Parts: sequence; structure tokens; C-alpha cells
Amino acid sequence: MIEHAVVIAGGGPTGLMLAGELALAGVDVAIIERRTDQDLPGRRAGGLHARTIEILDQRGIADRFLAEGNVLQIVGFNMVRLDISDFPTRHPYGLALTQNAIERLLGEWVAELGVPIHRGREVTGFAQDNGGVDVVLAQGASLRAQYLVGCDGGRSLVRKAAGIAFPGEEPSTSWLIAEASVTAEPEWGFHEDALGRHAIARLEGGERMGVVLVERQVGAEGEPTLSDIRAALIAVYRTDFGIHSPTWISRFTDATRQAAAYRDRRVLLAGDAAHVHPPIGGQGLNIGVQDAVNLGWKLAQVVNGISPDSLLDTYHAERHPVGARVLRTTMAQSALRRTDAQTKALGDTIAELLAMDEPRKHLAAELSGLGIHYDLTEGHPLLGRRMPDLDLVATHGPVRLFTLLYRGRPLLLNLGQPGGLAVDQWADRVPVVDATYAGPWELPELGAVPPPGAVLVRPDGYVAWTGDQARVGLRQALTSWFGPASGP
Ligand SMILES: Cc1cc2nc3c(=O)[nH]c(=O)nc-3n(C[C@H](O)[C@H](O)[C@H](O)COP(=O)(O)OP(=O)(O)OC[C@H]3O[C@@H](n4cnc5c(N)ncnc54)[C@H](O)[C@@H]3O)c2cc1C
Repeated sequence: MIEHAVVIAGGGPTGLMLAGELALAGVDVAIIERRTDQDLPGRRAGGLHARTIEILDQRGIADRFLAEGNVLQIVGFNMVRLDISDFPTRHPYGLALTQNAIERLLGEWVAELGVPIHRGREVTGFAQDNGGVDVVLAQGASLRAQYLVGCDGGRSLVRKAAGIAFPGEEPSTSWLIAEASVTAEPEWGFHEDALGRHAIARLEGGERMGVVLVERQVGAEGEPTLSDIRAALIAVYRTDFGIHSPTWISRFTDATRQAAAYRDRRVLLAGDAAHVHPPIGGQGLNIGVQDAVNLGWKLAQVVNGISPDSLLDTYHAERHPVGARVLRTTMAQSALRRTDAQTKALGDTIAELLAMDEPRKHLAAELSGLGIHYDLTEGHPLLGRRMPDLDLVATHGPVRLFTLLYRGRPLLLNLGQPGGLAVDQWADRVPVVDATYAGPWELPELGAVPPPGAVLVRPDGYVAWTGDQARVGLRQALTSWFGPASGP
């Protein structure tokens, strides 16, 4: 039987990112992907939020994405644009880029890292025991892995087979979505009626249109067809604009669900397999990629024998609350989509509040991902927050902090007396960098924070410890996150 340390079910954005993170850490990982090629019909996700761009920057691949997309202010709440150009980050914007392009670029990175992707293969079940997981594929083949990660989307077989509950809200609205050609000029933009808000947009080249239509009923069975789109157009616009030659027809709802647990022993869930919500606000792909980056280094350390298996529990502890917040803001925006007078009044009131600086910063920090705060310990405001990409001066010259994370390793940054923070018993796992930094310490939403004398940064770019050469709490932080001390 073929063996891998980790098998990932699903090579969408989450599975690809996770595979890259594991491969960087030297883990033998393989992806099993049902699709025979990377092409996605339709566009699905339309872009990346600032924190996702930062995450790619931490691995040295952000430029590939920036070169293909359009930098834009994309954070919004209920159609109110929330400008983040004043946020203290190297990327105070979002990136408009189709999911097809995002997956292609992630796929290229993963290929460079040598990860095998078994396309046209489907995970159909698994059995786990104390030593690993037997992963069953269609046509009867099977693989053995130490861990199986379900990155297999909202209908996740891995989640269902693990018996992990998926509680949440039933759909209250269903939308048809299509990309097609038309013979008559459509009514571009938004159109509101008693059903809700419909939209028709011009696609690149100007000859084709993308359309999103609220359906009369929720719960239609089967895949939608061109006749369904025609009927829905006529119901809303009294004409179908001569729609023809569709390249994508699909349906989505506002069903909102989250896995009760992101882990069952040797089986983990990430991305849409762990949480689904309507695409309002463009969050799904972004939090899936961020799940992957939270899980990747932890799983790698467990597989590589650096950390105990219990480190994996911090994955659920940190990412489940982030997912729950995203579900909350998308549900709030779903509610505000109603077109009755009371809901409009509520939306207008919220828009007024969001025109003020503090509410804008608060919500924009959350929706851009820059404000994520893992509940680690009390103390310095940096703890559990993203490490800013500082312009440091190290002993060998200027260096940008994110470049020190390119290899997916942690970092102990010593901003005090050079050589004063050696951690010999973790030297094999935690590189120490002596540097100086003269600029301000600023965090999105919070503003200026006190400059620390030293910072322990996890491979995912979140701060695990701050202090100085007195090292109070450093040993404990190193042990918790990077395993027990080696040697005497
Ligand atoms: C209309 C629409 C618009 C959206 N817009 C945005 C947006 O603007 N921004 C945003 O962030 N998100 C957006 N999303 C959400 C985004 O598309 C998803 O959150 C994202 O694709 C999740 O990535 P994933 O890798 O977790 O899952 P998926 O992309 O669903 O990938 C799962 C993969 O697993 C494979 N698979 C499934 N089952 C198996 C199996 N049993 N064995 C092997 N392989 C399997 C599938 O073929 C697929 O490739 C949108 C979604 C829709 C529908």
C-alpha cells in the first residue's frame, strides 16, 4: 500500500495551500483531487483580502498574484466600501483575481515544491486507528497516511465519514448564477424587487454577462439549466435578453454552517469542509487559505516528531472562533439584503456608523483578516496578532521581516543587545535573528503599541511571545509551540 505522512482530500485553494506549507517543512504529502484538471467552470471567488496577500508574501509568492490581479479597495459591508488604505501594512488593499487564477498560481507553487497531485481520483471513505488512517479511493485503491485532512469543500465526504456534526442555519434564499452571451443589451447593475437584489455585470471583453438572480423558491433539486436562468430573467426583467451559450450555470444559497470540531483524532478539516456561508463579502477562499496556514506548520511539527499531537488541538481552538466570526458577519449581511423598508432603514443606519473612523477600522480589520487575534495569553497587544512586516536592519544589512518567514520556520527576533538571546536548546528549530528597528510599531485598528525588546514569531506569522533579554516566559512559549528542549 502506498504511504504518505499526510494525505489531503481536495486540491482547491485550501488543499493546495496546506500542501505547500507541509512540503516547505519537508513533510511527505500528497493531494487526492477529484477533478481531472485545474479548470473551474465559472469564477467563484473574485479576490484576496489583505491578510491573505500578506500570508502569500510571508512565503515569497505574493508578487505572482499581484502581477495578475488588480489592486482595489474590496472590503465592504452591506455595499458600503470600507477603505483600508490607511492601515499599517505593506498591502493596504485587496486584490481582484479570479479563483481560477488563484488556484493555478497556488498549483504552480505546490508543483515547484514537488507535491504529488493525484487528479481524477476521489476519496470515498477512510478508517482510522491509533497509528494512522487508511484512505479509500474510488475504484478500490487505498493509501495509508499518518493524518488525513479534508479540504474537500462544503459537501465534504471526510467530514461526513468522520461523523463530525455540521450545525447551522438552513438556507433562506437561493441564487442562480450564470455566465453567458446575450443578443440584447441587458440592464447592467443592480435591480431590486420584492424577491431581493439581482445583478447583471459585463464580463471582460464586454460581450458576455455574469448574472446573479434571487430564486423564487429555496430548495430546488438538481443542477440548474439555461431554461431556469431564462425563466428567472423573465420573472425579474420581463425579458431574457436573448441569453445563450452559457459557460457556467450554478446555484448557491445562504446556508451557513460550521463543523462542530475541526479535528477527530487523525482526521482534520479545513476550508469549506469546515465552514460554509454565502459568498457575500468574499471571505470563503480567504479563510480557507488561512486555515491551511494555521494548520500546516503544526501538523508538520507533529509529523516530524518535534511537537506532541496535542499541538493540533490549538488548530480548532484558534480557527473555529475565526470561522464563527466570519459566519456572523455574512449572516448579518444576508439579513440586510432584504429589500423591505425596515431592513433598508437598518442598513442606512449601519452605513452612517461605518462612515465614522472607529467602526470602519473595527469592521475592516476583521473583514480584511488583518485584525485576527488568537487568544494566546494576556499581555502585550502583539500576542496572538499578526507580526507586522517590519523593515529591519540585521547584522548583515537591511531585511524585510516577512522574508525571514519564507521557509515556513519560526523566528526569534532579538531587538536588544546582539547575541543576548541565544536559545541553544531550540537552536535546531528556532532561528534567532539579531536586528534593530527604528520605525513605529503599529497594528491595524489598535494603532501604536509599545515596542517590544524581542518577539517570537510562529511560522504562520502570529506572535507567540514578546519580552526582552530577561526572557520571562520564553522557555514556556518555546516548549508550547516548538516542542521540548533538546539536550541537557
Ligand atoms: C458564487 C461564489 C462566489 C464566491 N466568491 C468568493 C469571493 O469573492 N471570495 C472568497 O474568498 N470566496 C468566495 N467564494 C467561496 C470560495 O469559492 C470557496 O470558499 C473556496 O473555493 C473554498 O476552497 P476549498 O479549497 O476549501 O474548497 P473547494 O474550492 O470546494 O475545493 C474542494 C476541492 O475538493 C475536491 N473534492 C471534493 N470532494 C472530493 C473527494 N471526495 N475526493 C477528492 N477530491 C474531492 C473538489 O473537486 C475541489 O477541487 C465564492 C463562492 C461562490 C459559490
